[in-house]
Amino acid sequence: MATQEEVFKKMVSHCKEYGFVFPSSDIYDGLAAVYDYGQMGVELKNNIKKYWWDSMILLHENIVGIDAAIFMHPTTWKASGHVDAFNDPLIDNRDSKKRYRADVLIEEQIAKYDEKINKEVEKAAKKFGESFDAELFKSTNPRVQEHIQKREALHTRFAKALNDNNLDELKQIILDEGIVCPISGTKNWTDVRQFNLMFTTEMGSTADGSTKIYLRPETAQGIFVNYLNVQKTGRMRIPFGIAQIGKAFRNEIVARQFIFRMREFEQMEMQFFVRPGSEMEWFKHWKEFRLKWHKALGLGDEKYRFHDHDKLAHYANAATDIEFEMPFGFKEVEGIHSRTNFDLSQHAKYSGKKIEYYDPELGESYTPYVIETSIGVDRMFLSIMCGSYKEEQLEGGDSRVVLQLPPVLAPVKAAILPLVKKDGLPEKAREIMDSLKFDFKCVYDEKDSIGKRYRRQDAVGTPFCITVDHDTLNDNCVTVRYRDSMKQDRVKIEDLHALIDAQVNMKNLFKKLIG
Ligand code: ATP
Repeated sequence: MATQEEVFKKMVSHCKEYGFVFPSSDIYDGLAAVYDYGQMGVELKNNIKKYWWDSMILLHENIVGIDAAIFMHPTTWKASGHVDAFNDPLIDNRDSKKRYRADVLIEEQIAKYDEKINKEVEKAAKKFGESFDAELFKSTNPRVQEHIQKREALHTRFAKALNDNNLDELKQIILDEGIVCPISGTKNWTDVRQFNLMFTTEMGSTADGSTKIYLRPETAQGIFVNYLNVQKTGRMRIPFGIAQIGKAFRNEIVARQFIFRMREFEQMEMQFFVRPGSEMEWFKHWKEFRLKWHKALGLGDEKYRFHDHDKLAHYANAATDIEFEMPFGFKEVEGIHSRTNFDLSQHAKYSGKKIEYYDPELGESYTPYVIETSIGVDRMFLSIMCGSYKEEQLEGGDSRVVLQLPPVLAPVKAAILPLVKKDGLPEKAREIMDSLKFDFKCVYDEKDSIGKRYRRQDAVGTPFCITVDHDTLNDNCVTVRYRDSMKQDRVKIEDLHALIDAQVNMKNLFKKLIG
């Protein structure tokens, strides 16, 4: 059996081989942590964005979208706190010359304790069989108790160090836990330093005095600075939301794990403006809605979990992540934050504008509170890929790689395949393609054996293969072969549209979300 790491590596090469993701400027050997999406990848990415956008804009009368510029007035980032506080703690290993995020090294150490605990529980579960009580075992077994105590002590110490911004203590934790560099295997660490993640550039020519500006590290501020514009012109009444999809840039210290941590990436963010005091209720509401949105894709409910933050960002009074089980562990895909009225108040202060809402029901004005849902398109893409990539052993010693993508997100919905390149079969296949192509992304393929063509479609996650054979000319039926089960059915051409639509129409998922 291949390890998770090996499968992940294969999945990454699969992404390149089949036109999903390429390293940026590949012919120049790439640019670290920057990637391009290929002909398949862009379709999948667009479908993810559509699923998100429509679930916000179509399903909620009180949510509207905007598309703000990447460049913003530099005071925006002073007001938001990013100039002073958008930092990560970095640490170098002197022997390998590799750089790490100190907080991530410690988080991985905590995960190791979790793994040890889980292993003990699994072992005991096997031994004791059906009558096994995991909670009782955890609270009584001395070895597990020892791991739990160590984990909790580390967790408390780590959370305190982060909240106190105590860099010396972060280093001390790394030393005390005996954390070594995975490359050199040594504990020869430098001190921990803060590193600001924002990219800067200059606007205007230097001759007439240029201005330093930032590439936005999050799309949210574009929403906050447009709060008044949208509220007034859209006559929005609280509670209401503003959604946006767009690029964000972060000069990440360590960029590994493919498109998990990129320096240029895309975010889908929604800021929901609410009455002060009602924010916890809305926080709960959005947590539930967002988790439903993920689970509706059908990759397996057990692959998702919430993770509450140890350190709240400077603006937040509650925060949680939705994590997905990647081959390298449960990892954040989306953040849900209760941002209080911090951002709007700060922008009011720095701009001198009154940024408030007059609540006709209460007869008073206030600065709205904000619940934010923030998800990375690329991380979502990665989670979908990780959840869908399967290597299957088939009967007769054959094997196949299949992407079991949720059909609504699949780049290609149906492949139309004439069994042979003659006898009028290509013409019939083209006719079918023409009747489907306005509603579904279809491909036509007549090259190679039918088996090879099926494999090609499996590898890019096409849910339906439609084969046209000689009988088709007489009975107007085709063979539909289903990607996951590989089962084949004889179907009337006139029924194809409904058959595909039932699987790939996002409407069906949206009904689940609000049902
Ligand atoms: P992390 O702790 O992994 O650095 P974060 O908590 O800083 O992430 P947020 O600021 O909450 O992330 O950003 C919201 C979402 O944007 C994340 O959940 C993630 O999906 C995405 N995201 C953030 N940074 C990156 C990145 N460097 N590459 C790809 N996606 C990212």
